[in-house]
Parts: sequence; C-alpha cells; structure tokens
Amino acid sequence: MTVRTRFAPSPTGYLHVGGARTALFSWLYARKHGGRFVLRIEDTDLERSTQESINAILESMTWLGLEYDEGPFYQTHHFERYNEVIGELMNKGLAYRCNCSKERLDELRQQQMQRKEKPRYDGHCRHAEVSRDEPHVIRFKNPTDGVVLVEDLIRGRVPFGNAELDDLIIRRTDGAPTYNLSVVVDDHDMGITHVIRGDDHLNNTPRQINMLKALGWAVPQYGHVPMILGDDGARLSKRHGAVSVMQYKEAGFLPEALLNYLVRLGWSHGDQELFSIDEMVQLFELGAVNKSASSFNTEKLSWINQQYIKNADPLRVAHLLSSHLGDRGIDPAEGPELAAVVEAQRERASTLEELAQISLFYYRDFTRYDEKAAKKAFKGAAIEPLERIKGRLAQLTEWNRQAIHQALEQTVAELGIGFGKLGMPLRLAVTGGAPSPELDLTLYLVGQGACLRRIDQAINHIQQQETPA
Ligand code: GLU
Repeated sequence: MTVRTRFAPSPTGYLHVGGARTALFSWLYARKHGGRFVLRIEDTDLERSTQESINAILESMTWLGLEYDEGPFYQTHHFERYNEVIGELMNKGLAYRCNCSKERLDELRQQQMQRKEKPRYDGHCRHAEVSRDEPHVIRFKNPTDGVVLVEDLIRGRVPFGNAELDDLIIRRTDGAPTYNLSVVVDDHDMGITHVIRGDDHLNNTPRQINMLKALGWAVPQYGHVPMILGDDGARLSKRHGAVSVMQYKEAGFLPEALLNYLVRLGWSHGDQELFSIDEMVQLFELGAVNKSASSFNTEKLSWINQQYIKNADPLRVAHLLSSHLGDRGIDPAEGPELAAVVEAQRERASTLEELAQISLFYYRDFTRYDEKAAKKAFKGAAIEPLERIKGRLAQLTEWNRQAIHQALEQTVAELGIGFGKLGMPLRLAVTGGAPSPELDLTLYLVGQGACLRRIDQAINHIQQQETPA
C-alpha cells in the first residue's frame, strides 16, 4: 500500500505556524514512507474563502519547501461529485431530507440544555415525508448505538458512543455540501491512507468514519496533532506576535530553522535539537508526538534560527540577506562582498533582519554614534591616535588585513599607548557602534576610502564636543 497523506487548509486566512506544523508532520509521514503528499484547498465556505488566502498558503508551502506531489485540488471543483454521493446515501436510505424549522431546533436545544443534556438533533425527520420541492437540508443517518473507536496514531484509542453523535447535516438548504461530507468524499477519492490533522477535528472523526462505513469505503488511519499554545497558556494567536508563516520569513527566519523548531515542538529524539530535513524524515515518528498541547517559545525559535544562520552556506545567507538590505535602500553590489560580511557578522545575529541591521555600516556612512559608546570612546585624548592611524591607513597601497593590522600595531607602539586607546575610538568611528568582528577585518571590509572619511568625521565630532560653547 502506498502511503498517501494530505494537507487540507481552509483558505480563510494566512497559513499560521500551527497549520504549518500539521502540514510538516503530514509531509514527513509521506516522505518517510515513500508515499505521496496531496494539497487540498477546502474552499467550500464561499463567504470566508479568499484568493488572497489561497495565495498566502501556496506561497508559505513553497517557502517552507513542503512540496506537494499532487494538487492543489479545490473542493469547489468537486460539488457535482459531492452531490452524487449525497444522492447515493439518499438512495440507500442512509440520509434523509429534514425541514425542521429554526424555531423547532432552537426549542429542542433549549429543552436539552435545561435537562443538562448535550444539544443534539433528535432525528425528528427520519421518518417524515419531506418533499424535495420545499426548503430542506439533508442529514446523514448516524447509527444510534454502538461505539466508534478511533485508533489514533498520536492519541491512541479514543472511543465515541454513537448515542453522543447526531444526524449530521451533509447538505445545506442552499444545496452546498458541508465540511464533513466533502472531506469524506475527497479523502476517499484521493486515496488518502493517513489523515494527519489538527486535534480540533477529533470530534469530527467518528462522524466521518460512520459515513465512510455507510458508503462501504475504507477507513484511513488518523493522527490528530495537538494544538500550539502561546507562552501564556492560551491558544496561539495574533496576540502572541507573529503567527503567520510569511511573517517569520519577513522577520528573517530561515525556512529550515522554522521547520526544525516546529518538528521539535512536542516531539523529541534524545536531546538532539538540530535536525536536517533528511534527519527529520528519517527520525520523526508520529507515535512519539506528545499528546498534550505544546507552548510556542519565540526565544527557542530564535536560538535555532541563529544556529542555522551560523552554519548555512554564506552565499545562501548572503542571497537571502540582500533583500533585507534592499528594504533598507542598500544595494550590496556597491560595497564589500556580501558573503564576506555574512561570515564576519553572522555570529552576532539571530535573524536576517538583525543581521541586516548590524551590517548597514559596511555599505553606508552614518552621522550618529551609539551614545553610550561615544561617551566612553570619543574623548579629546582620542584625537591624536585617530590622526595617526588615519595617516598610516592613507599611505597603504595594499588594502588587506595584514597591512591594516601592522598599521594598528605601529600606531600604538609609536604613541606608547594601550591598544584600547586607539581601538575603541577607531572602531566606533568606523562602525558607529554596531557589533563588529576583529578590528582589522572590520576596517578591511569597510574599505579604505570609507575608513578615512569616517575617521575624519569622528575627529570633527570630537573636536566640536571639546570646544566649549
Ligand atoms: N479544512 C480543515 C481546516 O482547515 C481541515 C480539515 C481536515 O484536515 O480534515 O481546519
């Protein structure tokens, strides 16, 4: 049997990290078992589904690299098929027309609540003769006794008494099929063997199993993925900061870092934290996923992202970083080689946004200095060391780290001062106070012209400060 899994988002908003984790688990399961991963867009709610959301979902899947083998399929293209199946259920006497009024249903609910019973449809129209010409819904005749046993790959055995379930509406008055019906038909028609989805659907599963059985169709295996909570214990939502996948892209997370974080959320393999995609495919086990909800921890995600930024191919990081610099009006072609800047700076940033922010000085002059650093480093006594080093740097005919290093050594030797007396003001002059690597490397990357220009600017700055008003 070929494993076939699917991800079936409703396009009523962006793809959030919870959905992305469900998609990842489903994708991993297919990859691990040499199966196929299907993308199905559940767009039957015409009022709430939007093209914008569809685009956001597709874009997020592509960015994450969760490539689908089939689809995207759209449920709105399958209405004819759903109606055919509804007709089949009617013909077999497994579904019926119901014209109960809203008033009747409201009253029924009221009475049940008063008796402290779970509100459910009482099967009133099971034996009524409702004409197809009057407004009606169609309900599935759910078995009235017995137990549906959901053998969940994550939750284990979850029994549901049929007496708890009621006759579900499978077609609305306007003729539109409902969620449970369309999912059953599509999961069957698409040959889905493993339904891996959020555990907010666990209560739908016994109903879907009953329909599959009524139609004589195979029942897939199910795995219900627990939800993700914010660090305050409430269900993860916009309130907790970025939750949409594309917002993480914009904030400068690498897709593989987000996947790595999501796979670790509620699943572990010894104390290993970092997993390549291949390792995830090999090691991930649905059965080892925590049954309870997990909390989203932004700090942990940042730490993982930092590891990925540190270890990724600098050329790739440079490629990704260039758009973050572009957003700040910088063309990295007009300055030092970006991959070299990445190697010099990347230990100091946990996102590409941060990396862009602390790398601006390589490409752009500035007029402001970090205030705290300036208080310490820009004193009158710094003027002479700055003048001297400027003279030496100006004379260099070869601009490389070794020559720069020598110039620094000679300057402190000549003045008989500690290295800090030159190093501190010089670093601040050239970087403005942004985090930076070894001084000779920093100067080398910034370039000779910019270094001389910035040293001049720093000297002026100090002189103006020193001049009594
Ligand atoms: N369309 C449903 C949702 O977005 C998922 C349905 C399913 O996976 O069965 O919540």
